[in-house]
Amino acid sequence: MRVILLGPPGAGKGTQAKYIVDYFGIPQISTGDMLRTAVKAGTDLGLRVQDIMTSGGLVSDQIIIELVKERIALPDCADGFLFDGFPRTIPQARAMLNSGVEIEFVIEISVNDAEVVARLSGRRVHEISGRIYHVIHNPPEIEGLDDQTGDRLIQREDDREDTVRNRLKVYRMQTKPLVAFYEGIANKGSVTAPCFASIDGTGSLDFVQRNIREVLLR
Ligand code: ADP
Ligand code: ADP
Repeated sequence: MRVILLGPPGAGKGTQAKYIVDYFGIPQISTGDMLRTAVKAGTDLGLRVQDIMTSGGLVSDQIIIELVKERIALPDCADGFLFDGFPRTIPQARAMLNSGVEIEFVIEISVNDAEVVARLSGRRVHEISGRIYHVIHNPPEIEGLDDQTGDRLIQREDDREDTVRNRLKVYRMQTKPLVAFYEGIANKGSVTAPCFASIDGTGSLDFVQRNIREVLLR
């Protein structure tokens, strides 16, 4: 099964991705997590992308496409994978089509801007694993600490409100057009076209999870 989760920052892609990959036994490919790991490790890639990530802009298509192509060539992707935060631009989506990567499901998680800002201001993450919490909607068992390791949770630098507003602008201009792109492909009805579905992301975590699972089990 090959799945893409689309949606603005804060829509719940990473949160839902964790449920889907556990349920279906496929790896989660989060380009955001991969890039943050590179920044933290201070690799060449990390040094090249850190400023643009802090500002909320997008890393260049060339870098991202290379990163993803290398990742999906690994053996654990043989039976499928879930893309979380990729593709984010039309050229990224086209690169997958041109490489013959057949996606079965594209699911848009839709959430309004005010909710995005509220969610991202309360988001806390466990840096090493990428586990995601929210101070109100999905709190850890002990405030400020990861449930599994007890490590201190952090707030991402790009979750500051001014950066979030910039990320929303970038989303509308660069990523939202992917909805029409995939709907267009789906409507052509070829056998290899992905199924496209848009899900309301404003319900509870469980509600959103059930709706996504329903699409994937159709
Ligand atoms: P969120 O989960 O809030 O949507 P991500 O963790 O997916 O954010 O991404 C964080 C940052 O990493 C983005 O703001 C962008 O700078 C960079 N990034 C991640 N994925 C991509 C991508 N596919 N294309 C370009 N930039 C990306
Ligand atoms: P994305 O990967 O799309 O940027 P995340 O999965 O990181 O989004 O979620 C952003 C924040 O919103 C996190 O703090 C998460 O705990 C919280 N969150 C996710 N889904 C919901 C939901 N359905 N209702 C309320 N808060 C949510």
